[in-house]
Amino acid sequence: MINKIPFKLSFKLFECMLALIIAFSTYLGFHFYQITLKAQTIENQRFDIVSSLNDFRGRTDNLSYLSRHFMFTLDIEFLEKYRKINNSKNNLIYGGANIRKSSSGNNHSDNKIQAFSFDDRVLFNRVIANDARLRMMEQRALAHVLRENTNPLKNIELSASELQSEGYLRLNLEMMSLLNKLLESINHRFQKQIGEVVVESTGMIYTIPAILIVNLLLLLVSFVFINNKMQDYHTELEGMSFKDFLTGVHNRKYLMEAGPFLLSLNRREKTQVAVLMVDIDKFKAVNDQFGHDAGDEVLVAFSKTISKRMRKGDIFSRFGGEEFVLMLNNVRSVGAEHFANELRIQLSRQSLQCSSGAICYTVSIGMVISDEDSDLNQLISRADEALYRAKNSGRNRVVMAEYRQMAVSA
Ligand code: GH3
Ligand code: MG
Ligand code: MG
Repeated sequence: MINKIPFKLSFKLFECMLALIIAFSTYLGFHFYQITLKAQTIENQRFDIVSSLNDFRGRTDNLSYLSRHFMFTLDIEFLEKYRKINNSKNNLIYGGANIRKSSSGNNHSDNKIQAFSFDDRVLFNRVIANDARLRMMEQRALAHVLRENTNPLKNIELSASELQSEGYLRLNLEMMSLLNKLLESINHRFQKQIGEVVVESTGMIYTIPAILIVNLLLLLVSFVFINNKMQDYHTELEGMSFKDFLTGVHNRKYLMEAGPFLLSLNRREKTQVAVLMVDIDKFKAVNDQFGHDAGDEVLVAFSKTISKRMRKGDIFSRFGGEEFVLMLNNVRSVGAEHFANELRIQLSRQSLQCSSGAICYTVSIGMVISDEDSDLNQLISRADEALYRAKNSGRNRVVMAEYRQMAVSA
């Protein structure tokens, strides 16, 4: 079935196959790139959130530590640090837990996952509320110390006890535990996401080479296929250049190339070749009477009849017009003469039916037998001379070269 695909179509198929392979490989490459990018984006996003929460935890610890130290030491440096940290805004917390604002500046937001689940948001709101309460308690104690100066030691004691109160410590602990829970939940969710992407990309690591191998095989098969087609086409073209278009028999070019080989082969074997020049008698009249197309049909039928009589090694070629040259391989003079007469009689008995009636015709044959040193051109011209004599002596006959008439038909 593959052999029936026309040459042009097979080229188109080859082109389509190449285009498909290129498109598919590009798609795979792009898909793999996207997966890798997605994994990287999720990891960056997780890193951003976890860092922000850790910052926030550190900040709470720091504020608590600095406020208490100021109470006990009244060292203004602690107070200044406290104020500075308290005024600094944590992106995640003060950005309203908006992950798109809090994450680092890459633009592949499509790959981002939801930073907080509903439960996380509940935890997160509790963290914010706790933070506000802690800061409020600290600032109340600090304001107290800064306001009073009558009995500083007593004031310090009073304020410090506020930051050592059960409520303050409980709030601090609760804050740490909430932050831990939040971190755990976020880490878990992001790890799960990354795990899924890793599974996908691992699959691709095996799939891509497999698909590329299949692509290469397809390419190889198509290449072999197109190569075969080209060879067939080449052979066909080569064959056509040696064939006569109308009758399908070999042409003069073939005769002039293959003929010398046949002669040299016979010379080596010390055998002989007969060269027959066959010409249809009064063929012009056939054309005139029955039309050119009918004349063509006569040429085709004539060629078929002779082709059937050819043996292995013989050459049958259209020399030009209605003149044909036969080279009979490994024959003797008598056998060749007999064959030529048989053929002549066979052709003269044939008739071809056409719309205007039956067409009958005869042929004249000039014939020559090769000798030790004859070449093809010489043999053809001697056969042509013999044919000329056959025509002049009445047609429908076989004439042997060298002016010796071998047989005359009735
Ligand atoms: P003769 O017996 O002397 O050979 O006479 P003839 O009419 O056969 O010879 P002539 O050379 O005068 O004419 C040959 C004719 O063959 C003329 C040409 O129109 C015809 N002919 C040559 N090739 C073709 C062909 O391919 N098809 C057809 N239909 N006719 C052809
Ligand atoms: Mg003729
Ligand atoms: Mg002629």
